[in-house]
Amino acid sequence: MRIGHGYDVHRLVPGRKCVICGVEVPSEVGLLGHSDADVATHALMDALLGAAGLGDIGRFFPDTDEQYKDISSLILLDCVMQKLWTEKFSVGNADITIIAQKPKMSPFIQQMRETLASHMRIPIDNVNVKATTEEGLGFTGKGLGIAAHSVVLLENLQQGKAMML
Ligand code: MG
Repeated sequence: MRIGHGYDVHRLVPGRKCVICGVEVPSEVGLLGHSDADVATHALMDALLGAAGLGDIGRFFPDTDEQYKDISSLILLDCVMQKLWTEKFSVGNADITIIAQKPKMSPFIQQMRETLASHMRIPIDNVNVKATTEEGLGFTGKGLGIAAHSVVLLENLQQGKAMML
């Protein structure tokens, strides 16, 4: 088994959608970025790539590349999963922490888990999404941006087989 961690931050600005874990959360301000700026899915992808030893999302999806402009990060997650499956990795479980003063995430947590679980093709019980504030402190507390952390565990099917032999 292999562990990976991911972290990401995006600014909150007017005139953008607030897409988190593939779910559009109603908000007066949205996340600024080259893609849909889904900060939590970005942290998740970096955790997945980190666990697999495949680098990070900047390496595969550079923000200078026009083909990724405003793209849904779920499409990028599908690409990351294809890379993992090619390397015979499957996701054991994933845990995500969203750090935001607002908007309120709790009504959307279940939908976020369902969305990510279906893209990673794992049971929903193996995907945890939680949100916290930083009590008004720092850039998340001031509502300037949203941060996200993710930790994942990967299982290498090939290695498991080799170890059994
Ligand atoms: Mg990002």
